[in-house]
Amino acid sequence: MDSIIKLEDFYYSPLYKFFDVKYHMPNFLRKGYAETEEYKKLDARNKLNQLIIESLINPNIKLEIKCNECSKKRVFIPVFGRLHQENWRKSATVGFSKEGIIYNEFECSKETKHRLFFIFRLTNKGIIKIGQHPSFADFQESFNPEYISIIGNEKYLELNKSIGLSAHGIGIGSFVYLRRVFEFLLDKAHKVASTESEWDEGKFSKSRIKEKIEILREYLPNFIIENKNIYGILSKGIHELSESECLEFFPVLKSSIEIILDEELDNIRKKKKVNEITRSINRIENKIR
Ligand SMILES: [Zn+2]
Repeated sequence: MDSIIKLEDFYYSPLYKFFDVKYHMPNFLRKGYAETEEYKKLDARNKLNQLIIESLINPNIKLEIKCNECSKKRVFIPVFGRLHQENWRKSATVGFSKEGIIYNEFECSKETKHRLFFIFRLTNKGIIKIGQHPSFADFQESFNPEYISIIGNEKYLELNKSIGLSAHGIGIGSFVYLRRVFEFLLDKAHKVASTESEWDEGKFSKSRIKEKIEILREYLPNFIIENKNIYGILSKGIHELSESECLEFFPVLKSSIEIILDEELDNIRKKKKVNEITRSINRIENKIR
């Protein structure tokens, strides 16, 4: 486990995720503790503990994240401790109270007024992130608004909800919204296909999802046909996978939905262009006749 966790992970973790970390509280709260030999020995004792504790007090930690105010990915660095309240102590970069509340602030490397704020709580059992502003949901890019022309406003909002949920550590819920969009696309294709004269509704309704996709292949984006298992993964996520598995797989499924919708957008653009050019060709032909 510890080999996967990086310093920054602690900050990127969703709210209320509990980290089982053993440390000696009074020592940890001591001013300048980060520079002591005792602190440095921590990593020999327990790498995970050391990583997490260091992530809270290391002045060199950097967070790479989209700055809401710059609207660009930026590096954020810890702000030198500026807390002066009496019950707050200071280390190089964090403020903490005797009750084990840790406060940390980061600034955007482009404009120091752009800030990120974090609050953690240390208990006898471990550490939990209890506060953050702006929230990670606010940092997330939303899906391309052009998708509204394909799936409508309501489904578009649902897609963005999936991003927000995964940012808050709700993996299974995020899968539900992705699956709904997937189902919407199948439904849309089904409606068009069923108007064809040779359509067999009985056969279609009895088919399993993979077969349905095959039946609708002329009406669906290629990516769905080539990756019929997407629906299966989303369903498995909802019924069998754990929250953390869903969170881990979310980026791939999110990208899959994007590829599908981008393909639809390309098709619409191409059709529009073909229509325009065909009309122009006809006009030219009429002129030179
Ligand atoms: Zn910024």
